[in-house]
Amino acid sequence: MSTAAYRTGLGPAALDVERIRRDFPILDQTIHGKKLVYLDNAATSQKPRAVIDAIVRYYEHYNSNVHRGVHTLSMRATEAHDEARETVRRFIQAADASEIIFVRGATEAVNLVAQTYGRANVGEGDEVLITAMEHHSNIVPWQILCQEKHARLRVVPINDAGELDLEAFEKLLSPRTRIVAVAHVSNALGTVNPLRKIIQLAHAHDVPVLVDGAQAVPHMAVDVQALGCDFYAFSGHKIYGPTGIGVLYGKEEVLAEMPPYQGGGDMIRSVTFEKTTYNVVPYMFEAGTPDIAGAIGLGVALEYVMGLGIDRVAAHGQDLLAYATEKVGAIDGVRLIGTAQHRAGVLSFVLDNVHPHDLGTILDREGIAIRTGHHCAQPVMDRFGIPATARASFAVYNTKEEIDALVDGIRKAHEVFA
Ligand code: PLP
Repeated sequence: MSTAAYRTGLGPAALDVERIRRDFPILDQTIHGKKLVYLDNAATSQKPRAVIDAIVRYYEHYNSNVHRGVHTLSMRATEAHDEARETVRRFIQAADASEIIFVRGATEAVNLVAQTYGRANVGEGDEVLITAMEHHSNIVPWQILCQEKHARLRVVPINDAGELDLEAFEKLLSPRTRIVAVAHVSNALGTVNPLRKIIQLAHAHDVPVLVDGAQAVPHMAVDVQALGCDFYAFSGHKIYGPTGIGVLYGKEEVLAEMPPYQGGGDMIRSVTFEKTTYNVVPYMFEAGTPDIAGAIGLGVALEYVMGLGIDRVAAHGQDLLAYATEKVGAIDGVRLIGTAQHRAGVLSFVLDNVHPHDLGTILDREGIAIRTGHHCAQPVMDRFGIPATARASFAVYNTKEEIDALVDGIRKAHEVFA
C-alpha cells in the first residue's frame, strides 16, 4: 500500500477507506440481498488481496519445506519464511528476529509459555496473576499449570467500567507471584490496559509479564522494547493475516533459559537414543514443519498495515469507536458493557428485551455481521451479571455509514421485540 492510499485533504490521520475496501475482495458481496457490513473483526478480520496472492504465489511457485533443503525452491521458501520473521520483528520493534517464535495463534503462544516457562518456574504454593477480563486462552492454560503444580491462580478485579483495579493489582503482587499474564486490550470490553504501569509494578517485584496482544496489534503501535514486557502474544488472523499462524515474542534472555515446548524435527541440533541437544532460539520452540504459507501471509499482512501507517489505522479505529459509542449508546434500551476511559476496537452492549443471539440473527438478515455470546470471556459476563453481549468490532475497511446501518438494525430489532 503506497502513500497514495491516504486521501489528500483529509489530514494526515485519514485513511482512504474506499480505496482500502477495494483491497478486500470479500467485502464486495451481498448477504440476504443486502450489502455486507462486516463488524466481527475481533473474531477474525478479512484478508486483503495482497495476503491472498502471497499465499497462492507460494503454493504455485515455490512450495517447498524450509531449512532442510539445498535446492532452489527450498532456499526460496526459507528466505521468505525468514523475511516474514524479520517483518514481525520490525512490526513489534523486537530487538532481534530470534525473539520471534511462530505459533498457531495467541492461544498456542500462552500455552507455550505456561508449559515451558511456567512448568520450570511455578511450584507448589506459588501464584500466577491474571485479570478478570482475560480471554479463556489466557485463563485456562494457567489453570492447567496451577492444577499440575498445586499453585494458585489469582485474579485482579475490574470496576464497573471494565477497568483494572491497579491498587488491587499491586496488593496481589506477592513474593509468591511467578508470572503476570494480562490482556493488552480486552476482547469483550475493549478496555486498553495501562501496560507500562503494570509491567513497571511487576518488574519491581521481579515478576515477568506476558501480554496477550491479540486485540491490540490491529489497533495500535506496539513496541515491545519500550513496553519492556517479557512475552507478547498475538494471532495473525485478527490483523488481516491467515488463520493458523501467530506470534510469541519473548525477551532473548528469558527464552534462553526456557526448556523446550514440543519435541520433533527442526528443534534439535543432534539426536541419539542416549541424548538430544536442542537447536538455538527460536527454532528450539518450533518443532516440525512450520506453517510456511501462513508466516509468509502474516508478513504481507503486517507490511500492509505498516504501509497504511499504524498511527492512521489507530486514529481511524478510534474515530469509528467514538462514533459507534455515541450512536449505539443513544439507542433506547441499549446498555454499553465496557465504558473504560481507554478503549479500542470493540463495542459491547446489551439491548433490553432482546437476547443478543436474536439481535445477531436479525442483523444478519440486514447483511450485518456482529458477534454475540460470551466472547470466550465468561468471567467478564459473570462480572457484569449477564449471559452474553452483542459485540461490534472494527477494522480499517469499516465506515461510519456501516455503523449507521448497525444502528438502524438495532432499532429494528428493538421494535420487533418491544
Ligand atoms: N486473546 C484475546 C484477547 C482474544 O480476543 C483471542 C481471540 O478472540 C485470543 C486471545 C485467542 O486467539 P486465537 O483463537 O487466535 O488463538
